[in-house]
Amino acid sequence: LSIVVPLYNEAESLAELKAWIDRVLDGRSYEVIFVDDGSRDDSWKVVQQLAEADADHVVGIRMARNYGKSAGLQLGFQAAQGRVVITMDADLQDSPEEIPELERKIIEDGLDLVSGWKKKRHDPLSKTIPTRLYNAATRWVSGIQLNDFNCGLKAYRLEVVKAIEVQGEMHRYIPILAKSAGFDRIGEQVVQHQARKYGSSKFGLERFVNGFLDLM
Ligand code: UDP
Ligand code: MG
Repeated sequence: LSIVVPLYNEAESLAELKAWIDRVLDGRSYEVIFVDDGSRDDSWKVVQQLAEADADHVVGIRMARNYGKSAGLQLGFQAAQGRVVITMDADLQDSPEEIPELERKIIEDGLDLVSGWKKKRHDPLSKTIPTRLYNAATRWVSGIQLNDFNCGLKAYRLEVVKAIEVQGEMHRYIPILAKSAGFDRIGEQVVQHQARKYGSSKFGLERFVNGFLDLM
């Protein structure tokens, strides 16, 4: 298993997230790939500490500046070696407890991509309402019947992440990239979602403009 975690200024969350992943995957063979997207806080220091403490399970990648979440995912995908690749946000909003079932859907049900569905969201209304519109537009344009395209928690067959190129703001549309690369067995899993524990969201209102431009 490869767990790819893109992060920007998430120093407070990283050790907790790593410990939680370890608890869930205890005894398994896995790597956690932390991709530091040009953080200005202590995130990179923490990633280095985690890598020193557990070299068998931690890979740290650091970008020279803040390139965006898509670029972070892309670097993580290039580095990933696991048969199944999981992506999750660094801020503890996504739960590692979902990983085994996501993996099962790839291995046993034969899906190419499983996307998390934050059915019960813990985010402000200013985000959840535009998100509905965005998801409806994306379903209409792509023909892919997902409820929650931009969930950070997703699982992929390794071939899928090696075949796609995620850049700009396209992390919102990875299921579309996968489908155009020929991987159309796309499924969904209702996942637990937590309110952000530390810090604040790294995306402002411009997310809606950028998001729709990239859909077009
Ligand atoms: N992130 C990143 N680069 C950025 C912005 C965000 O790597 O330029 C990471 C962030 O640290 C988090 C994930 O992307 O791990 C999702 O970001 P955030 O939690 O701020 O988004 P939200 O949950 O508000 O949609
Ligand atoms: Mg978040």
